[in-house]
Amino acid sequence: MKFVVISGGVISGIGKGVIASSTGLLLKTLGLNVTAIKIDPYMNIDAGTMSPLEHGEVFVMNDGGESDLDLGNYERYLNVNLTKDHNITTGKVYSSVISKERKGDYLGKTVQVVPHLTNEIQERLLSVSQIPVDSSGQTPDICIVELGGTIGDIESAPFVEALRQFQFRVGHENFVLIHVSLIPVINDEQKTKPTQAAIRDLRSLGLTPDMIACRCSKPLQKPTIEKISMFCHVGPNQVLAVHDVNSTYHVPLLLKEQKLLDFLNKRLNLNADIKISTES
Ligand code: ADP
Repeated sequence: MKFVVISGGVISGIGKGVIASSTGLLLKTLGLNVTAIKIDPYMNIDAGTMSPLEHGEVFVMNDGGESDLDLGNYERYLNVNLTKDHNITTGKVYSSVISKERKGDYLGKTVQVVPHLTNEIQERLLSVSQIPVDSSGQTPDICIVELGGTIGDIESAPFVEALRQFQFRVGHENFVLIHVSLIPVINDEQKTKPTQAAIRDLRSLGLTPDMIACRCSKPLQKPTIEKISMFCHVGPNQVLAVHDVNSTYHVPLLLKEQKLLDFLNKRLNLNADIKISTES
């Protein structure tokens, strides 16, 4: 199983969900069986009890699970049916750890965020990613994991730590991280400083971005890409420009044009014949 993790910095609502779904869709064009997990770092068990005014509409899955709209995006983009387990929340992981503690599963240990909660998160990622999600009934090859919220938030800290450990657990060739950041435009100038700070935050927590997806109102200029490459310690081919588009269904094409699949193919040892697959 390969994991493609999508995290975000600078602001919430930056487009992680759209980039996660689009990446999954492109991987699907290679003939891979793709699944998706959404991590929501809030204390609610699910989105069912939240006000739509605050959180947006709730998406109801086939098994009755009530979740964030992102799960609906994954189902549409990837043509899969997900379950309530594909939405991991702080509420669910705490609830499970606390009930295990009451049953005595931890055998006299002091139950802590690290390692008990972080282990629970990792076990869930491993088990939920194995659930077949399409009519083929096959175990998926690739799992897209979207980490909701913004890196550096107190809420997402246990998940970030779990992912930090997880990258070593599954191995380098099975774990790739795409970090979505914002490039504001001030007086027609594309500003990279918030992205530099966001990447510094990410690295300080032990996560290294394999790709930086830059959301910007306008297409990124070459000097902006070069500056991000220089100051964020990634190659220019690891900077993805994702400008505002009329329809988010254009985003997969935008990513494809920037050779996202070539990068993932090499980085994850997918051994896919990109030319044949992407021309079809
Ligand atoms: P997040 O998952 O980071 O909260 P979403 O993927 O849900 O963000 O996107 C937030 C909003 O921004 C959505 O309404 C989405 O349609 C819109 N959006 C995302 N990417 C783009 C884009 N490239 N161009 C225009 N709108 C976008």
